[in-house]
Amino acid sequence: MKARLTIPLILLLIVLMSVTATGSDKIKVSIAGGYNDVAAFWDGSVYFVSLSELADILGGTLTWTTVGHRVEYKDIGFKFNFLLDSPFFVLNDTSYNMTYAAGLRQGQLFVPVATLLPFLDRVTPQKLSWSRAERTIRVDSEYFNVNDLSIQAKANGVLIELHLSTALAYEVFVTEGNWINISMRDARINRSRVLSRKDNRLMRNLKVHQVENNTGQVSIRLRQKPDKWHHKLVHDPTRIQISITDVDFELDTSPTPILGPDDKIDVIVVDAGHGGDDYGAIGSRGTREKDVVLNIAKKLASLIRKDKKFKVIMTRDRNKTVSLERRAEIANQAGADLFISIHANASPKKRVRGWNVFFLAPALNDSARSVEQLENSFFLRESHQSQNPSPSDAFEDPILSILNEMIMTEFQAESNDFALMVDREFRRRLDTPARGVDQAGFFVLNKVFTPSVLIEAAFISNKSEENLLKSKKYQEKVAKGIYEAIKRFKGKYEND
Ligand SMILES: [Zn+2]
Repeated sequence: MKARLTIPLILLLIVLMSVTATGSDKIKVSIAGGYNDVAAFWDGSVYFVSLSELADILGGTLTWTTVGHRVEYKDIGFKFNFLLDSPFFVLNDTSYNMTYAAGLRQGQLFVPVATLLPFLDRVTPQKLSWSRAERTIRVDSEYFNVNDLSIQAKANGVLIELHLSTALAYEVFVTEGNWINISMRDARINRSRVLSRKDNRLMRNLKVHQVENNTGQVSIRLRQKPDKWHHKLVHDPTRIQISITDVDFELDTSPTPILGPDDKIDVIVVDAGHGGDDYGAIGSRGTREKDVVLNIAKKLASLIRKDKKFKVIMTRDRNKTVSLERRAEIANQAGADLFISIHANASPKKRVRGWNVFFLAPALNDSARSVEQLENSFFLRESHQSQNPSPSDAFEDPILSILNEMIMTEFQAESNDFALMVDREFRRRLDTPARGVDQAGFFVLNKVFTPSVLIEAAFISNKSEENLLKSKKYQEKVAKGIYEAIKRFKGKYEND
C-alpha cells in the first residue's frame, strides 16, 4: 500500500513543479454583459480553473471537509463532492470522471475546465460554455425559457404554474399513477430550479425530461388522481396554468406552518442593520453599511406601506443605536409575521461579490460562518464592552448554545422557505452574482419569535458593489425583490 501511495505523490510533485514552471494565469468569465477574472493555470495540456473563485460568481457554497481532502460544492438542486488529486467526483450520488485530477493550489480547489464544465452546466440555473480559444467561460442566464414551477393548494383544488420567458407550444396529459405531464416544444428547462420546487406536501414526485429534439417535459406525480382539470397560457408574466378542481387537497401536514395568532400575514418588521455608533462594515470609499442598509430598509418600508394588506414597522428609521434586544422586542411586541434584517457584507478579499440570504440555523460551512462571525461581532462588541473582539473571541462564544433551539426549529422551515422566495426574486432582478440561501446563527434573529431572514445585499468591501449599494437604483431593486417575496410568502402561508 505504501509503495502505491508514494507514486502518485511523486507524480503530484512533478505536476506541481511543472505547474510552477508554467505559472499562474487567468480565465475570463463573461456574465451579465461584464467580465470577471478567475484564477487559472495551464498544466501543459489543459486549463485548470479555481472552482473556489468560480463558485463565488455562480453562487452556491464550497466547503472543505475531513481535513481538506474532500470538497463539497453545492447549491439548490446539486451537490458535487471532489477528492483532492483524484479525477473522480460524485455529483448528486452518482460518480463521474473528469479525466484530470482536482487539485489544491494556494488554498483553492482547481478543476479541469473543459471536462468539468459540462457537468456544472447540467445542474446550474445558468447555461455555461467554455471557449478555449478565447480562454473564456460564458455564463448565459437568458438561456432558459422554462424558468420556474409553482404548485399551490387552493380551497377548491390545486394550481400548478409553469413560468416561461416566452410563449411555447405545449400539451398537458395525465398518465398512470397520477402523473400530470406538461410537454413543451422548443423548451429549455431550468432543471435545477424546477426540481427545487418539489414539495412533498403537495406531490409524490417531480421529474424533468429534456429530449434531444428540444422537447421538454415537466411531470408531477400528484397525491390523488386528477380527473377534472383545465389549462391555459396566461401572460404578464407568461405562464402555463393548470388548475385541478376535483381533488380536495389533503395536505400532508409535516411541517405545519406555524403562524401568528390571527393566521394573517400582515405585520412585517424591517430591521436596518447597525446604526448610531455601530457603523457596520465600511467600504474603501468610506461608505458605511449603517447608511446604505437604512436607505434600502426605508425603500422597502415604503413599498410595503403602499400595499394596504400590510402593516410595516421599522426597528430604526434614522441613524440611531438600537440594541439587539430592543430589535427583537420591537418585533415580538408588534406580533411580527416576518422579520427582515438588512445588511451589507464585507470580506478581506476585495474581489468577492454577490448577495446572500440567510435564515437562522447553525452555520454549515466556512463562508456562512464568516458572515455570522462578522455580523455577530458588532453585537459582541456592544454586549461585552470589548473594544475590538478578535474573530477568535467571537468564535469562542458558544453560539450554538446561545441560540434558542426552540425558535430555530419552530420557524426554520418557514424562514428557509421565505429565504428561497427572496433568492428567487433576487436572481430575477439583480445583476450581482447570486451566493444564494444559507443558514447561520445570527444573534439578531434568535430572539425573534417569527420567521426571519438576514439579507446581505452586496459586498461593501468590493469597489463596484460599494457603488451599487450607494445607488438608488440598486437599493430600489433590492427593496422590490424583498417586497415581492413578502407577497409570495403571504400567498403561500396565509389561510384565507
Ligand atoms: Zn451588518
